Amino acid sequence: MMKHRDLILLALPLSVLALVLVAVALLFAQFRSFERAYLADAQSTLAERTRFIADVLAPDLAAGDAASVRRRVAFFAGHPLRVTVVDAKGEVLADSDAKAAELPNHADRPEILEAGKDEDFVTRYSVTMDAWLLYYATRLPGGWVVRASLPSEVISGAISHVRLTVLLALLAGAALAVGLFLYLFLRVRPTFNALQGAAVAIARGHLDTPIAVPEAGPLRELAKAIAVMGRQLRNRIDELRRERDDFDTLFNTLREPLLLIAHNGEILRSNRAAAKLLGPAVQQRGFRIERTACPELVAYVRGAFDAPVLHGREIPFDDGSSAPRALLAHAVRMEREGSLCLLLLLTDLTDLRRLESFRSDFVANVSHEIKTPLTAILSTVETLTETPLDDAGRATCFGILTRQARRLNDLVQDILSLAAIERRQGAGDQAFAPLSLAQSAQDAIALCQDEAARRGVALSLLPDPLPDLTVKGDPRLIEQALVNLLANAIRHSGSPTVTLTLAQEGANATLTVADQGHGIPEEHLPRLFERFYRVHQDRSRENGGTGLGLAIVKHIALLHHGAVDVRSTVGQGSAFTLTLPLAFPPA
Ligand code: ADP
Repeated sequence: MMKHRDLILLALPLSVLALVLVAVALLFAQFRSFERAYLADAQSTLAERTRFIADVLAPDLAAGDAASVRRRVAFFAGHPLRVTVVDAKGEVLADSDAKAAELPNHADRPEILEAGKDEDFVTRYSVTMDAWLLYYATRLPGGWVVRASLPSEVISGAISHVRLTVLLALLAGAALAVGLFLYLFLRVRPTFNALQGAAVAIARGHLDTPIAVPEAGPLRELAKAIAVMGRQLRNRIDELRRERDDFDTLFNTLREPLLLIAHNGEILRSNRAAAKLLGPAVQQRGFRIERTACPELVAYVRGAFDAPVLHGREIPFDDGSSAPRALLAHAVRMEREGSLCLLLLLTDLTDLRRLESFRSDFVANVSHEIKTPLTAILSTVETLTETPLDDAGRATCFGILTRQARRLNDLVQDILSLAAIERRQGAGDQAFAPLSLAQSAQDAIALCQDEAARRGVALSLLPDPLPDLTVKGDPRLIEQALVNLLANAIRHSGSPTVTLTLAQEGANATLTVADQGHGIPEEHLPRLFERFYRVHQDRSRENGGTGLGLAIVKHIALLHHGAVDVRSTVGQGSAFTLTLPLAFPPA
């Protein structure tokens, strides 16, 4: 079957052919009337000439000068016009092309019979001339008839010349149509087909399709334009692809969940953080915000489509899978492909809120810790200034003042050292020098010896000899951690003996402070390392603790990439273990 584009190509030669045919048909239609007009023109010329000749011959005929008549008629010998003079009886007097004497009687010739009647012409075969002739005869007074004839080839020659011209025009037109057809089908069509195929391939996304640009011809410019278009399209698509990749990277590396939501609630796009928060289902096609387990978030999104002014809103988020979170939802309205969408940014405020509550708890605790010694100091100073006291009374007052001032000082010192350790933790990796744990342990024992002796507690350091363990750390802080643990055991456990044991466990060193005291009930153990957490509030204060000792130990352990742990049994005692990574772990 012929293709549509072939029909288009065929249209040009076909229309040329059709035009030629129409022109020829019109010419042929005109031809008959042309023929008639030409014949009529030839007839009237013949009639005029015959009458003219008759006028010229009339005087000679009237005078009976046959010789003059013959001489004048002979003038037409060899001329296409044949002139014959016939008398009233039909005898030929003179003839331009034949000898009159040899000619038969012409009385029966149709043109002679008709002569002088209407202007009638006769075309008939002349036996004398052996040709088809057009005759005209005119009658003169005395019965003379002057007849002139013209060979019909003269007329038909002119007519057939016109016919030949028309035929040649037809042939030229047909040749032009065939030439056009051959040119279009043999030269243009293959290039056109190749171009069309390449353009279709580019349109289908095969942007690397090569375009063959012809050396010359009508399709050269078109091929060049398609090639440039293809190249520009490829560059533009590459550029868009790069931009999309950059955007995807940016979108997915964003730590905040980000969602693009359609007006019907469908989540059109979401980043990795959003999938982590709301579950991987949000990235499925057709997932709607209504399916998230957070009615407050759904209500915010619904409202954000219509609200005149958009504000961020804090939303409690609890999907049951992890701890409840606090999210700050912030929506921005935008248009996408002509419809309204919402870009929703969720910021996790959980840590911030926790920090805030932690800070306010800490401030409240510190205030509370300060209040008690401060009240004691104020009331003692009041007693000293307003009440007359004896020496013993004053000594008691000064004793109270000294104890409370020391307590305040201890508290401030502990708060400051905790803040300093936290600052160093926040500053990132510390470049610590190697230190000997045996040395730190011996120094800590020495520092606690006095208080232990005062309270009747025997301190011991195990094993003997001490293993040579090296860790990287701040010797002052390691010593402080050990002193805090030893001081707690001396002050709070009620045990007569406290031991500090140094050991190696794999790549770590362990320092365990153990007592055989009354132990700590299990329910307190998870919170023991929190700031200001005490098992027995008043008893611990009386024992001189600030409530920050174990929190400081924990932060020192974390600063050194270590840990602190407690095991305790009520009635049997406790063991606090500080674990630190060895500076030179065994291979
Ligand atoms: P404090 O300054 O009160 O000692 P810590 O943070 O050092 O604060 O200790 C927290 C609480 O843990 C103490 O108040 C005490 O009740 C309890 N505690 C610590 N060590 C021991 C121990 N060895 N035996 C019994 N209780 C202890």
